[in-house]
Amino acid sequence: MPVFKDIASLRQWRQSLRGTLAFVPTMGNLHEGHMALVRLAAARAEQVLVSIYVNPLQFGPNEDFAQYPRSLDKDLQQLHAAGCSTVFIPDDALMYPRGRKDLSIIIPPHSLAKVLCGASRPGHFAGVCTVVNKLLQMVQPEILILGEKDYQQLRIVQQMVADMNMTTQILPGPVQREADGLAYSSRNARLSPGERQIAPLLAATLFDLVQRSTPQASIAELAQAGQDSLEQVGFVMDYLELRDSDTLQAVNVARPGARWFTAAHLGQTRLIDNVMIPL
Ligand code: AMP
Repeated sequence: MPVFKDIASLRQWRQSLRGTLAFVPTMGNLHEGHMALVRLAAARAEQVLVSIYVNPLQFGPNEDFAQYPRSLDKDLQQLHAAGCSTVFIPDDALMYPRGRKDLSIIIPPHSLAKVLCGASRPGHFAGVCTVVNKLLQMVQPEILILGEKDYQQLRIVQQMVADMNMTTQILPGPVQREADGLAYSSRNARLSPGERQIAPLLAATLFDLVQRSTPQASIAELAQAGQDSLEQVGFVMDYLELRDSDTLQAVNVARPGARWFTAAHLGQTRLIDNVMIPL
C-alpha cells in the first residue's frame, strides 16, 4: 500500500492511474465509521485514496488540536486490511508552506456555516473548506466520500463544490454507530469509562425526538425536553435543534426529511450527532 508524503509523487501516481479514484479525507485515529466510508469508496471506484491530516486551520485557539488523538501506525494497519489502495499523509509544511496567517481561504455561505457548530466554532468551516479544497486540487479524485456524521460539513462542502464549479462527485456515507447507538468518533477515545456509559444517551435522545416529531408537536417544547434530560445526566449542551437537511435553516413544524442536530460536551469531550425524520 503506497503511502505518499509529498505532492510530486502523489501527482505522478495519480497521472498513471487507470479507472475511477474515490477519495476519503480523514483526521486519522480511524474507526468503523471511517472504514465504512473506505468500503463505500471501494464499491464505487477502482482506486481508493485515504488522507490522514489533522488540519490546524479548522481548530479554534481553545479547542483540542494538541490533544486530538493520533494513532498513525494502527491507522495504516487498518487501512491495509480494509483494502485501501493508497494513503496520503501531508504535514503542515506541505499544506501551509507559507504558514497559516496570510492565506487564501474559502469562505462558505453564512447561512450554512454560521449556524449549528459554526455559531460556537468561528472560522471552523472556512478551515474545513480551505483544506478540502487544497486536498481536492492535490488528489484530483472523481469521487469524494464524506460521512453524514458531520452533516453540516457535508452540506457545506457540497455547496463549495457546486459554487466553485468543481467536477468532483460527492458521495455521502450514513452515520455508523456502536451497538449502543453512540456514533463512532475519534473523540470517543477521550471519554472516561463513566462518560462512555452516558454518551449513548445523546443518540438515544435524537432517536426519541424523531419518534415524537409529529406535525402537531411543538418543536420548541421537544427541544427543551431533550435538552433538559441530557443536562440532567451531565451533558453541557451547545445546541439541540431541528433544521432543514438542505438549507440548514430552523424548522418549526416537523416534516419528513428535516433533521435533529446536536452538539454537547461531556467532560472534556465535544460530541456531535444528527438523525433525520424518515422520508
Ligand atoms: P474525521 O476523521 O473525524 O475528520 O472524519 C473523516 C470522515 O469520516 C468525515 O467525512 C466524517 O464525516 C466521517 N465519519 C466520522 N465518523 C463517522 C461515523 N460514525 N459514521 C460515518 N462517517 C463518519
